[in-house]
Amino acid sequence: MSDTAIKHHLSDELLMAYAAGTLPEAFSLVVATHISMCDDCRAALAAHEAVGGALLEDTAEVEMAPDALESCLASIMALPSKGPIAVNVPERPVAKAKGIFPAPLTEYVQGGVEDVNWRPVGFGVKQAILPTSKEASVRLLYIPAGVEVPDHGHHGTELTLVLQGAFKDEFDRFGPGDVEVADPNVEHTPVAEEGEPCICLAATDAPLKFRKILPKIAQPFLRI
Ligand SMILES: [Zn+2]
Repeated sequence: MSDTAIKHHLSDELLMAYAAGTLPEAFSLVVATHISMCDDCRAALAAHEAVGGALLEDTAEVEMAPDALESCLASIMALPSKGPIAVNVPERPVAKAKGIFPAPLTEYVQGGVEDVNWRPVGFGVKQAILPTSKEASVRLLYIPAGVEVPDHGHHGTELTLVLQGAFKDEFDRFGPGDVEVADPNVEHTPVAEEGEPCICLAATDAPLKFRKILPKIAQPFLRI
């Protein structure tokens, strides 16, 4: 996919945390999926990794002791043989992109959009929670064209990547490849644009707090 239409990118903070391997798995998946769609963020990530590597080299030079090289090599040899980016990603055969799903996502879904185990959430909205470590959760959302996602604020950070269609909220429009980063202070009402259904990948590190009674009652069952 060409990234020329992507307007909303990952923040430097997120890219650095991803490069350092410190993001929860759910957020890593969204970041990896965006990066596979976006040349700009892939280049920015490469720059962060180069800077990180240079910093490590500088530190080694400054603190050089007679046996520094030896002990450094020894600790490197003691590390598991995978790079920092692979830390949060389960080891599976390398998957290929399938339809609207970039490669990182097909690994979690074990296929394409037609293989997703959707669960109805109401108002035609469907979701599928993907298996990740527990400190954050990630789900696929299917929102029919023109349908509103219930008005909600956030307890934590929410990262939403559009895979198909588009949604609008009070602040902006998000189309394929765009990422919205919503922090705890943001209250918004995303609405899927007319046309085709909007399919998103959304990670959150805390339960959303819905404002309307019905979604609030349903929340424990929906696990969102
Ligand atoms: Zn980007």
